[in-house]
Amino acid sequence: MSFELTIEPLGISVDIEEGQTILDAALRAGIYLPHACCHGVCATCKVDVTDGEVEHNESSSFALMEFERDEGKCLACCATVESDITISAEIEEDPDARAIPVRDFQAVVTRIKSLTPTIKGVWLKLSAGQVFDFQAGQYINLKFDAAIGSRAFSVASSPSEGGEIELNIKIVPGGAATSFVHEQLKVGDEVTFSGPYGRFFVKKSADLPVIFIAGGSGLSSPRSMILDLVEEGFEKPIALIYGQRNFSELYYHEDFKALEARLPNFTYVPVLSDEPGESEWSGARGFAHDAAKAHFDNDFRGHKAYLCGPPAMIEATISTLMQGRLFERDIYTEKFISAADAQQVRSPLFKSI
Ligand SMILES: Cc1cc2nc3c(=O)[nH]c(=O)nc-3n(C[C@H](O)[C@H](O)[C@H](O)COP(=O)(O)OP(=O)(O)OC[C@H]3O[C@@H](n4cnc5c(N)ncnc54)[C@H](O)[C@@H]3O)c2cc1C
Repeated sequence: MSFELTIEPLGISVDIEEGQTILDAALRAGIYLPHACCHGVCATCKVDVTDGEVEHNESSSFALMEFERDEGKCLACCATVESDITISAEIEEDPDARAIPVRDFQAVVTRIKSLTPTIKGVWLKLSAGQVFDFQAGQYINLKFDAAIGSRAFSVASSPSEGGEIELNIKIVPGGAATSFVHEQLKVGDEVTFSGPYGRFFVKKSADLPVIFIAGGSGLSSPRSMILDLVEEGFEKPIALIYGQRNFSELYYHEDFKALEARLPNFTYVPVLSDEPGESEWSGARGFAHDAAKAHFDNDFRGHKAYLCGPPAMIEATISTLMQGRLFERDIYTEKFISAADAQQVRSPLFKSI
């Protein structure tokens, strides 16, 4: 059974199925509603219901308090509808955003490669005739079995390779989805995913030098964004500060070194936090945010910064950038939050996913 969802102030009406969340219906119609955790706890997707009835489902009582429910608010990531409905949302125009509707895709695993002891590269070839259109930096929701559900993974390859996408998946000890990928997924397996999701992409219209600061498997989106910028001949300086624990975890290291040698406007600063002192590593040591501070002499003015990785790394890096006089409006983040992390999310202060 389907209903009509009207989104104000756009005045656009789209179909919404019984059991489908408001957010999902909007994204599949190519309409971006602000959201972040997608688990009903961060409140980024709070909207006003001006007409019709919603079911709040698993929206947390902390993120959506009782009096707000009474006032007609809901969390679009959890709320489903039982009638035609009208919502009013704060929708920011972003000149760099392309309205690409979220779709479901089928693909076959064509290659799996250990990029590091903990990160696997997984290549997915789309079914014949399908092309996955996305903006470099966006992510997909890869579906697993019913017990696991789906998980977000950023696309690591360039949008120009639309018929095949690469994911870089780090194993989380005890993690349901990543253990499956590392231990059971094999070449030839069929998978389904939906996407593209997220607003983490380069603000090309700003035409400013860009800094990417990544940690762990957080290299995926910056890699896609850098490949895309290079392909289109972006001329402003591009810096990649990439933090890993040790040398064996540094992946695509040779590729980025080669890119740095080839392109005068690209700088690559790998930094290791846990490399044995006696090793041959002669590069930077410590954390990514400290390496960024040293590289830019604590002055980040005039840049756009894109941070991607675990929440703790992102928090530390934001403080460093702001101390180095980069404004909040020039910092964009993609936190690899899990359902459990999301419980700790209060309200995202920064422009992010
Ligand atoms: C927008 C977005 C993009 C993402 N892109 C990538 C990507 O490109 N590559 C990638 O590897 N992951 C990425 N992630 C993380 C990914 O979606 C999963 O959360 C993560 O891989 C863990 O899934 P799991 O099922 O193995 O663990 P779960 O079974 O969901 O969690 C098991 C336990 O591990 C903890 N945990 C979950 N994630 C992490 C983590 N990252 N570090 C430490 N502990 C954790 C949980 O809190 C929980 O206690 C992304 C997340 C988001 C939100």
